[in-house]
Amino acid sequence: MPGGWASDVRIDVDGDGTIAEITPDSATRAGVHLAGPVVPGMPDIHSHAFQRAFAGRAERAHGGTDTFWTWRRAMYDVANRVDPDDMEAIATQLYVDLLRNGFTSVVEFHYVHHQPDGTPYANRAELGERILAAASASGIGLTLLPVLYRWSDFGEAAPREEQRRFINDLDGYVALFDALVSHAATAGARLGIAPHSLRAVSPRDLADILALRAERDATMPVHLHIAEVVGEVERAREVLGARPVEWLVTNAAVDETWCAVHAVHLTEGESQALAKSGAVVALCPSTEGNLGDGVFDWPAYHRAGGHAGIGTDSHVGLDPAEELRWLEYDQRLRDQRRTVGSSPHDLYVACARDGGVASGRPIGALAPGMRADLVVLDPDHSALAGGDVETIVDRWIIAGNGCVRDVYVGGKAVITQGTHPDATSIRRRYQKTMKHLWDR
Ligand SMILES: [Zn+2]
Repeated sequence: MPGGWASDVRIDVDGDGTIAEITPDSATRAGVHLAGPVVPGMPDIHSHAFQRAFAGRAERAHGGTDTFWTWRRAMYDVANRVDPDDMEAIATQLYVDLLRNGFTSVVEFHYVHHQPDGTPYANRAELGERILAAASASGIGLTLLPVLYRWSDFGEAAPREEQRRFINDLDGYVALFDALVSHAATAGARLGIAPHSLRAVSPRDLADILALRAERDATMPVHLHIAEVVGEVERAREVLGARPVEWLVTNAAVDETWCAVHAVHLTEGESQALAKSGAVVALCPSTEGNLGDGVFDWPAYHRAGGHAGIGTDSHVGLDPAEELRWLEYDQRLRDQRRTVGSSPHDLYVACARDGGVASGRPIGALAPGMRADLVVLDPDHSALAGGDVETIVDRWIIAGNGCVRDVYVGGKAVITQGTHPDATSIRRRYQKTMKHLWDR
């Protein structure tokens, strides 16, 4: 609970899946008995679902010349072969895997919009609707961010051939966004906007998309990739005359509805300015490690009072415990000391709460008014044996793989004893898609 562990807690959930009341030390034994320690579900605040189909397939060294950019070329090849059925099958399997590990919601940063030749589908929102369908089939909570992607680099450089499925002008983007509104509402998903990055969206485009947001819903989440790799920081200095985060906090009204994805390369001043803005940083430690992006300076940002959540981005990792362990160990390895924040437990609580803010949905804590997104840990897991309640989450994150037993989203059981009810049919469909994509 927000104040720490409590016992014999009764959680009353209303008809639409929201926590109505939460009562510690309750004598009542009626209702569903949760069979282990319960923690708030973790929001996954950065996902490109289709990239799961590519995870672990770009790990062969090419003479030491592999970088983020060579990885991206290979990833585009997959992006250009995924059809709508593939998109739905990959996302559904991914979301079940995320649920199984304790992620109860996902923010989908969705940028593949068009047919492989770049023309829009007859239904402009075809692929976005497949993401909505995948979330519904899996039972995960969803914030869907249709992405505005216009240029291949700073200075409005023309998009490249391999980016044609991503590209919209502002009119195209408005049509896409509006086509998703009613479908998202039906699916219970939150919509937000995502100017892809300061590379793919110019200052003028950013102003346009923010004006659209002001018109449609001024509280919608705004997410963008920023300062992931050093080359991007250098190009921003050349073209915009400032480092990316420095430019953003100076030129946009950044507040707690904003999410800066990665923000790995910050000066002390940028770190403080970002913290002061109230924005949430989306840290994706396993992907950032896989791509060799660099290490986010958590102690500096934490000291400045900064907010952060975790994302699984390219989906080489699918587990909140693994992401937080990586975040913790990256800092320890760099600084050659131990616990860098206060504890893995506190890191979990903060990333759940702030991740909820970045998702734009009432999630990330156990309290009245929040969705009943609950993770029940397995009391029979060896890492959780023995007393000392205070260290349960530390033990899960640092020493326990596979500690999640049951998962509830909006009060509904979606994982029971480690299993999703439709696991077999979802897996078969996914295997068929992977055959289609890779058996060439
Ligand atoms: Zn990303």
